[in-house]
Amino acid sequence: MSLIYSFTENFLPILYYFNYYFSIRGGLKISENEIDSTLKKVLVDFGGKEALIIAKILIETTNEDLTDERIAELSVVKLNIVRKILYILNENKLTEFQRVRDKRSGWYIYYWKETFGNLPNLLSERKDHVVNQLDIRMRFENENFFFTCNNSCTGRYIFIDAMDLNFRCPNCDGGVLAEEKNKEKVKFLKDTIINIRNV
Ligand SMILES: [Zn+2]
Repeated sequence: MSLIYSFTENFLPILYYFNYYFSIRGGLKISENEIDSTLKKVLVDFGGKEALIIAKILIETTNEDLTDERIAELSVVKLNIVRKILYILNENKLTEFQRVRDKRSGWYIYYWKETFGNLPNLLSERKDHVVNQLDIRMRFENENFFFTCNNSCTGRYIFIDAMDLNFRCPNCDGGVLAEEKNKEKVKFLKDTIINIRNV
């Protein structure tokens, strides 16, 4: 219960993405030698350093069509991990595949290519999502009174829950739940929303 209302815990992932937006201000650079630093962060986020290795192969291989098996061979990353990463990137519109039926075996073969040029769109969608979440959060902070333990325990409770607890902290002995002024938090949320909208 306390975690839901905790301020920082809920915000870490949002602020993490928030940093992306500032880093794309300079525009997106993708070349054979340099993967844009924002793209790097996104790739690592989606599939660890294996995703970076796979991305490099997708960018650099221009003289042949790449199947997932071939990518596994070139990257020395396990085939099931290669597939997983390709699909995650595909769900986020950062890879595309072409499905071709092999005439002899009847099996489908998938040829993969990167569509990293879609990254700004992906980030813009995330941006809308983050602004939306922050807005919901700001309203929630505005519409509720919050209570915290006067011994600085981690729990944070809305009025009705604090009342259920008789305003006694469930995490320590003798702690009293006192109202926490959250004006600064609301202001922080408001400023953050404005900042992200302006990126
Ligand atoms: Zn306490």
